[in-house]
Amino acid sequence: MTHAFIDPLVIETVTRLCETEIPKYQSDEHYNTIPRALFTAMCDAGLGGLSIPEEYGGIGASATTSAAVFETISRYDVGPAIFLSVHAMASGLIARHGTEEQKQIYLPKLASGELLAAFALTEPHAGSDTAALATEAKQLPDGFALNGNKCYITSAGFADIYLTFATTEDTSTSGLSGFIVPATAPGVSWGKPERKMGAELSPIASLFFDNVMLPQNALLGALHGGRKVALSGLSGGRINIAACANGLSRAALEDSVAYMKDRRQFGQALVDFQGLQFMLADMHTKLAAAQLLTSQAAQDVDALANGDASRNTKLSSSTAKCFATDAAMAITTYAVQLFGGAGYIKDYTVERYMRDAKMLQIVEGTNQIQRVIIAREIIG
Ligand SMILES: Cc1cc2nc3c(=O)[nH]c(=O)nc-3n(C[C@H](O)[C@H](O)[C@H](O)COP(=O)(O)OP(=O)(O)OC[C@H]3O[C@@H](n4cnc5c(N)ncnc54)[C@H](O)[C@@H]3O)c2cc1C
Repeated sequence: MTHAFIDPLVIETVTRLCETEIPKYQSDEHYNTIPRALFTAMCDAGLGGLSIPEEYGGIGASATTSAAVFETISRYDVGPAIFLSVHAMASGLIARHGTEEQKQIYLPKLASGELLAAFALTEPHAGSDTAALATEAKQLPDGFALNGNKCYITSAGFADIYLTFATTEDTSTSGLSGFIVPATAPGVSWGKPERKMGAELSPIASLFFDNVMLPQNALLGALHGGRKVALSGLSGGRINIAACANGLSRAALEDSVAYMKDRRQFGQALVDFQGLQFMLADMHTKLAAAQLLTSQAAQDVDALANGDASRNTKLSSSTAKCFATDAAMAITTYAVQLFGGAGYIKDYTVERYMRDAKMLQIVEGTNQIQRVIIAREIIG
């Protein structure tokens, strides 16, 4: 049973954590890294175990509380929110689909921060089209031999386990299976972090599997049941990305109001120009709508988890993800405009928000793919 309310204590703790810890790492020195001390501090505050039941050392947060956590972190920096949301999604999949042995081995360590998890689905020729995956896990008498490569994997090179999806040579089903692959397994390697547009504290890189020997108990969920495993994490993941977008939008709106009260042109504060006030009003309206859609989608996931099968979480989570991230792109672009030349300068915050918003329209299924899903769900 999950509780569909926002725990104010959790949010207060997260706010304090963000104010004290995140600024330490917002520098060129930490560009494209996951500072382990930051992840540890997040886990010490309970965030490593957001999607892990209490009996395995987690806090078993509802989708509603998780969304509030991701909105709060992204208000300060979207990077840590992204690697944490991937960690939470992978941990949640082990909690839902793992055997008792897998849960005992991994969940307490994922909650405490001893282990960082990543989710490896995308490949060079299989992005939106996940049916085209070429990474293969060949069945052997005592396990699997994993060969292939993945790209754009959040936390690659920093994570301790990779939840990896590969084909398992079955023609009667989609033939995809999920595996828990330790970073230390012989044959696992990774490339340099990609030089990307934003999310400086959430690196992505390629992963390579060269004849990686996996024991039978590396399989997560049923053999050939990998699509079900992967898809079961998507609703929660999409809501968390919507929440990240809302955090960014809040940051852009709050920073814009503060700047416009201070900056004067033509003898008056920017905030007194009605044309600019209308831009603020539009930013607020988009954000408020995005927050409501996100909250509704989270409530749907919580209600479904508590047995209400009438909720269409696929529709509501894609709707929230698509709307909130498009809104964040529009709101952060407005913020850059409202700052004038300063908006284009890295010493101010808003150019970072705009770069980070673009990522959110692409990850966890692009917004075109969200529209495909939404249309499919409403057409029936
Ligand atoms: C910062 C970042 C972090 C990421 N982290 C991870 C991770 O941790 N794990 C992981 O597995 N992947 C990760 N990804 C990969 C991400 O999920 C993919 O980039 C995304 O799914 C899109 O796939 P693609 O890049 O191959 O684009 P493509 O699928 O090639 O799409 C190109 C364009 O075509 C559009 N398009 C494609 N198909 C359709 C269609 N049917 N209808 C309409 N339009 C379509 C897309 O919307 C897009 O605009 C990450 C990517 C980034 C940028």
